[in-house]
Amino acid sequence: MERIGRVSVFLLSVALALFLFSFCVTSVNAGTKTDRPQWMDSSVAKLKGELASKFGEAQREREERGLNQVAQFWRSEDGNADEFETFVRGNFAGDQTTLDAMFDRFEALLEQIDGHMLEVSLACRRQSDLDLGPIMPFDEVFAGWDPSAHVLDDFFQNKLAFIALLNFPLTTLEQRLNEGDKWTRRQWAEVRLTQRFSKRIPAEVNQAIAQAGAVSDQYISEYNVWMHHLLNQKGERLFPAKLRLLSHWNLRDELKAQYANAEGGLERQRMIQLVMERIVDQTIPDVVIDNPHVDWNPFTNEVSRAAVEDSDEPAPPDMKISNAREPDTRYARWLGNFHAMQVVDRYSPSQPTHIQRVFESGRQLSEARVQAMLEQVLGSPQVGKVAAQIRKRLGRRLEPFDIWYNGFRASAGADEAQLDALVAKKYPDAAAFQRDLPAILRALGFAPGRADYVARHIVVDPARGSGHAMGAAMRGAPAHLRTRIERGGMNYKGYNIAIHEMCHNVEQTFSLNDVPYYTLHGVPNTAFTEALAFTCQNRDLELLGMARPDARSKALGTLNTFWGAYEIAGVALVDMQAWRWLYAHPDATPAALREAVLGIAREVWNRWYAPVFGVRDVTLLAVYSHMINNFLYLPDYPIGHMIAFQVEAQMEKAGNFGAEFERVARIGAVAPDLWMMAATGQPVGPEALLAAVEKALASL
Ligand SMILES: [Zn+2]
Repeated sequence: MERIGRVSVFLLSVALALFLFSFCVTSVNAGTKTDRPQWMDSSVAKLKGELASKFGEAQREREERGLNQVAQFWRSEDGNADEFETFVRGNFAGDQTTLDAMFDRFEALLEQIDGHMLEVSLACRRQSDLDLGPIMPFDEVFAGWDPSAHVLDDFFQNKLAFIALLNFPLTTLEQRLNEGDKWTRRQWAEVRLTQRFSKRIPAEVNQAIAQAGAVSDQYISEYNVWMHHLLNQKGERLFPAKLRLLSHWNLRDELKAQYANAEGGLERQRMIQLVMERIVDQTIPDVVIDNPHVDWNPFTNEVSRAAVEDSDEPAPPDMKISNAREPDTRYARWLGNFHAMQVVDRYSPSQPTHIQRVFESGRQLSEARVQAMLEQVLGSPQVGKVAAQIRKRLGRRLEPFDIWYNGFRASAGADEAQLDALVAKKYPDAAAFQRDLPAILRALGFAPGRADYVARHIVVDPARGSGHAMGAAMRGAPAHLRTRIERGGMNYKGYNIAIHEMCHNVEQTFSLNDVPYYTLHGVPNTAFTEALAFTCQNRDLELLGMARPDARSKALGTLNTFWGAYEIAGVALVDMQAWRWLYAHPDATPAALREAVLGIAREVWNRWYAPVFGVRDVTLLAVYSHMINNFLYLPDYPIGHMIAFQVEAQMEKAGNFGAEFERVARIGAVAPDLWMMAATGQPVGPEALLAAVEKALASL
């Protein structure tokens, strides 16, 4: 769940998007019409007749399709009529043997290119991604450089892209949804191969996206709050020394952990909520961000020189202490990313907004369908019933931060400090986690041989941020598990995330190394990899040698998942509405965006949460850092919960976690509903989750 930062954005949206999940802009209008040379129509007409007589009637449909696809993207600078005709005559694969050779070679070489580009990129980002000490200005330049930015341009220039377009099919989302179930794996692989050439975005545009992403990623990954320096109304410190929490992930997780703290937990939770609200509305004093040298009372917003020291660094001698608020940097970074993505619009006439591209290309579920699925969860009768359970268990009215209630978890009773100690002892550093991978995988249910096979494909690195998983892009190369290790060892939060990220790596390993065709590698979209990751994360305590969940705690787990889906569905709606607002107000200032997001967050809250919580105008839903630097990624979480539930139920039915995980991870990057049909026999949807909640409620 914690794919922090630009790594996922950068790779999914910029580099690998061209390759893995592809920008699937496949409409017949994909080329820029105004660039179409005047001679094109007559050349196309001439070649059609010529090629049909040369290669026979059986090839006519392919010829027509290929010619039209090339014509969509051919610009005057690519060559004149003669050059176009010579190109087509010389590169049309008119028989199956030639076509097979071409397909095999493209597959093999694209894999080499993707794989090695990614290796170069990872090397350049090493200092900024990993916990390796200060980031120098030149490190940021390295991290912002995308070696694959020019590949697509080059492939149009040297005409390899045109060769693919001449010989393999471009498809629409509609075709893939309606006809995809009749296609063979080879046909699907051809579809995915051509998709990467379905857009012609200039390299400088991709470069600008990568740079804007790098700037916002750094902003997010250094946005820490030093908790010992928060003072309550009585001037007391509620949190231990050295506790440094990254917004929003660690803040939220600390809030969750405080449910287990009968003494003072509630006061701490209220304080964290206040901190979050001040981040969202930007009344947080600028000087307190990632600064252990000041004390801050979030109630009054007063700031003073720290009365206690809990960091190893001395205070800078020139530090100016004031409670001047953060100057809307949060929203300026968001706008920076929006403007970078907006430039792509003009090169994508069939999907002229980032919103459309995210939903129809990457996610392959329409925005309307996603919205409907989210609202189906938010408006379900199960919400009220589960909320009543929570009120009963807490023995009080709900407060807004109870959107993060986690008392249904079996772990809620466990002492977080004890867990921290257990985990820190087991995993003092990244190498210890690395060594334990085979054992963890066996404990999850992978056969010894398969556990070793996967473990050999994973490299564990200490992350600067909260952790993320980075799959490889060529067979044999390792996936990277980036995990946050505090001084003194991994803590329980870090471990919980590491298990999640490790599971991404497991999926990445199977779905790259064990699918029949390279271009079919991966899963349909990121919600699927999240779904698979949740299935391991749910078992994190079991993996520490604690009790295996019984029927009751399984039912509680279902309610926990559901409550999480309810929470994140609202967060996703805020993200989606904010992007719609951005497109309606492309020239907005950071301050205007701030006000809009606050308004949207309140509106979503008032519609779906206020009736349950009895409080209006809460802005907490907008605290997610993803909104700033992860471009509409958030809807994948609630969809992920739905899918996870479908997948988990399937694995339970199958009775062998390891084997079943491998089977579904090897289905490949077909359309989402098709994948789900192959995995579970049902299309994607929240019905399985809602039905399970009913069952869980009845059993409790
Ligand atoms: Zn994840």
